[in-house]
Amino acid sequence: MAFVKQYRHPSPTIFLIGLFAFLMVFTSGAFAAAELTVIIDPGHGGTNVTGTHLLKSNSSPNNATSPSGLREKDLTLELSREIQRVFESERASNHAPKIRCILTKTNDWNPDFAERAKVAADSLNPGALVSIHFNTFRHGTALGTVAMIHSRFFNPNHKADLRFADGLTAVTSAAVRNFLPRSSAMDSINDHHIHDGTGAYLFYQMQRYPQLDKVPKCFLEIEFIDRKDVQGKLLDQRLVTFPVIAKAIADYISCYLQENPHGSSVLSQPQDESADEKFLEEHKKAESPFGNSAFIDWFLGAFRRPNLPD
Ligand SMILES: [Zn+2]
Repeated sequence: MAFVKQYRHPSPTIFLIGLFAFLMVFTSGAFAAAELTVIIDPGHGGTNVTGTHLLKSNSSPNNATSPSGLREKDLTLELSREIQRVFESERASNHAPKIRCILTKTNDWNPDFAERAKVAADSLNPGALVSIHFNTFRHGTALGTVAMIHSRFFNPNHKADLRFADGLTAVTSAAVRNFLPRSSAMDSINDHHIHDGTGAYLFYQMQRYPQLDKVPKCFLEIEFIDRKDVQGKLLDQRLVTFPVIAKAIADYISCYLQENPHGSSVLSQPQDESADEKFLEEHKKAESPFGNSAFIDWFLGAFRRPNLPD
């Protein structure tokens, strides 16, 4: 009888220890860490310049325009929404890892770069950030996909960012080439030439948040839109082309985060460089028509630096 009574009423101390242990696990991030956030930043927007150069937050409303008058700011938002849709559909299909995708803006307005960086900083377990843009160069003389990363002079994560950006460019370019076979993947560029050496204001603003230090991040200029062939084959057909490009981008980021969980500041782990190298090799081999030759990469790279993103 005494035993039964004891069983029915466990000691308050044991109960409190159990409750404490449960709360420790629940609040330690063990549950939250299961889901990473990918932040997609649709470049430009609205009608006015926002932010200031003094605060290093200035964002222009629009830079590039296509021959028919399509504006970069509308295309970036359209493609970013499509990328978010891909993540949402894959999230619903219950594949691991769980990835949530948020946009730094959901309508036609122009948050300055401090506001865009804050969206990333406030997100739950930030895993990667890509700022989507479209390019122009000297009246349509360039064709290709190019990424830009924060210069190694300011960026302790430069090597990882370069791997992330090179791979992202390769898969995006492969998707674009379905519609524009002559397009190419350009070498990723550094941002040290921008704003008198400060680099891109988005990266500058992101550096204010330690939780974003290890988050792979880059600008991705999808294609040069000041050309009639790009207008006709890519932009005018974007109900078909954008979902293909969006899927390539989302799938790459998912794979990258699966293979490089240390890319997240929360899931930080010792870096396994050999895994990174293998991942990039596989992507390069798959995408390069010349195979994986460092010399050919260098040779082509020498002719492939036509433009600098904003
Ligand atoms: Zn832009």
